[in-house]
Amino acid sequence: MKFLTFKGGTHPPEKKELAKDKAIVRMDPPQFVYVFLSNHAGAPAKPVVKEGDVVKTGQVIGEPGGFVSAYLHSPVTGVVRKIDKLYHPVQGRPMEVVVIERTDEDRWQLLEHSDWETLSREQLLEIVKKAGIVGLGGAMFPTHIKLNPPAGKTIDTFIVNGAECEPYLTVDHRLMLERAEDLVLGVKIVKKILNARKAYIGIESNKMDAYEHLKKVCADSDVEVVLLKTKYPQGAEKQLIYAITQRKVPVGGLPMDVGVVVQNVQTVIAIKEAVVDRKPLIERALTITGEAINNPMNVVARIGTTIQQLVDIAGGMKEDAEKLIMGGPMTGIAVNRLDIPILKGTSGVTVLAHEKEPIKKPCIRCTKCVVSCPMGLQPYLLYLLGNKKKYDQAVEEGLMACIECGVCAYVCPSKIDHVRVIKLTKRVYQALRGGKK
Ligand code: SF4
Ligand code: SF4
Repeated sequence: MKFLTFKGGTHPPEKKELAKDKAIVRMDPPQFVYVFLSNHAGAPAKPVVKEGDVVKTGQVIGEPGGFVSAYLHSPVTGVVRKIDKLYHPVQGRPMEVVVIERTDEDRWQLLEHSDWETLSREQLLEIVKKAGIVGLGGAMFPTHIKLNPPAGKTIDTFIVNGAECEPYLTVDHRLMLERAEDLVLGVKIVKKILNARKAYIGIESNKMDAYEHLKKVCADSDVEVVLLKTKYPQGAEKQLIYAITQRKVPVGGLPMDVGVVVQNVQTVIAIKEAVVDRKPLIERALTITGEAINNPMNVVARIGTTIQQLVDIAGGMKEDAEKLIMGGPMTGIAVNRLDIPILKGTSGVTVLAHEKEPIKKPCIRCTKCVVSCPMGLQPYLLYLLGNKKKYDQAVEEGLMACIECGVCAYVCPSKIDHVRVIKLTKRVYQALRGGKK
């Protein structure tokens, strides 16, 4: 059997056994939801509701605040209690949040459009926009923009990212098993929007049941299901594109530069739900997992549900719980409070037990980080240049090509924290250059 892959990468313990066999359960909507106006990449949405407004499930509560922005919808039927400020886990500072109290069972405000097969690509794109769909793999980039490349860019290939290479997380695996038909219908819709010739679903070899199931579901379609080597970061866009098409996205470029668009499994299912079922994005599936959670599971939760509510439904934390992560351990964000609500891009909550703090040592020039870097960079050098504030030299050495996957820090025997320094160096460089790359 052929396993497609890329050069470099690593093999962290997968830890998927904690939740991979747990079917997705639907969580009851909580009494309060906290919906950040910044629930996507780009400008925060502008609120179109005020304190005291009665809202239906799916009703628009925020409109795009700029070109790169997205619609927001009420995840419950209830009353807007206030527009407050709360710590935003991605922005790292307090941001505006719409607090809605649920007062009733769901009374839906659905999207309004005709049978999707009669609609043009422009009309389909408008539905994706109106539904507030963003990249649900974590990037939260507005999907209607990604599916609408500028004039002169032709997309011939659409790839569904079913790699789920992040340790611990299992929700995409479950979705591919439980919602394969919806996924394939979503692929058909996206292909029509992009006018793409070819569509692939890429799945890592540690999800053979999902691979075999989707192979059967796709047997009579033009969607090709391909098997990827289980290796981190197989699901990073550039690595995935290379593994499947052998096309290399140029440094500073985008997948569309090589004729490809990639979307995560759940994003494609959300597109199907918007276009076929007329449902805006008000909920998502995610994994609650880790050695320090009592009952690891996969759930569908409303956007704006707090981590506390998720931890509670998963049986609470164990006594040795020490680290709380939104997402998985390689690319997730460590948080230290439970009142933070999930965003559209939150693919998991991972609770890890106490571990001995690794002893950091000086670099021993072993080159492990160089050999493993999937972007062919010299992480030890970027770390050095960043620490010495030699920003231009760091850029010359490929700073901006770093995808912040964390492989270098993971493999380093000296436990050097390259990614923290690289991220900071990028931020400072961009600030010094007035935000220009
Ligand atoms: S330098 Fe960047 S791309 Fe390379 S391994 Fe480290 S984090 Fe990943
Ligand atoms: S892996 Fe760590 S010790 Fe080895 S060269 Fe890279 S930074 Fe130095």
